[in-house]
Amino acid sequence: MRLLVVEDEARMADALARGLQAEGFVVDVEPDGPGGLEAARFGGYDAVVLDVMLPGMSGYTVVRTLREEQNWVPVLMLTAKDGEYDEADGLDYGADDYLTKPFSFVVLLARLRAMLRREPAPRPAALRVGPLTLDPASRRVEREGAEVPLSRREFLVLEHLMRAHPAVVSKESLLDAIWGAPDEADANIVEVYVGYLRRKLGRERIETVRGVGYRLAS
Ligand code: CA
Repeated sequence: MRLLVVEDEARMADALARGLQAEGFVVDVEPDGPGGLEAARFGGYDAVVLDVMLPGMSGYTVVRTLREEQNWVPVLMLTAKDGEYDEADGLDYGADDYLTKPFSFVVLLARLRAMLRREPAPRPAALRVGPLTLDPASRRVEREGAEVPLSRREFLVLEHLMRAHPAVVSKESLLDAIWGAPDEADANIVEVYVGYLRRKLGRERIETVRGVGYRLAS
């Protein structure tokens, strides 16, 4: 089994490489984002261990780029608990699993082996409602074939509405699904994001069902 470790901290990269080699893996190390992306593209690895904070390009960008290119190599992300990123964000960008630093080598090894045993993640099917297409794998949204760039939250709101279609989705369930803590978040934020989406997709695409919530037009 061939592994790629993308990590800029030399001591960490070294310890990982030596530990994994001792377990019988063939290991290559890349110390920055662009090098990691190139190696992951062309190296034919069985899995990639990918740090988030990297010089040149973040681990998130590396994994998102790979997925956009339909490259489904299993990726285990290493995230730092520094408050700058949501630990689970990596999964949104297409990573298969993540570990928060500091982690134990034994846990890393177990996660890697579990990941290698799984079949490559099946590509989720694109969602279609009316003129809109949303591809959860590449995070791409199109209206009549033309790409509509959306922020992460806008994407999540639209995905939720598309999965529910033709049902009406309440503001509370959007708040709960996307912002997580309904008690702390203001329900008005949902209206704000529906407004953004209407501006980008066309006002008529999202209907307001008074007193109930929102529904995508067919
Ligand atoms: Ca780093």
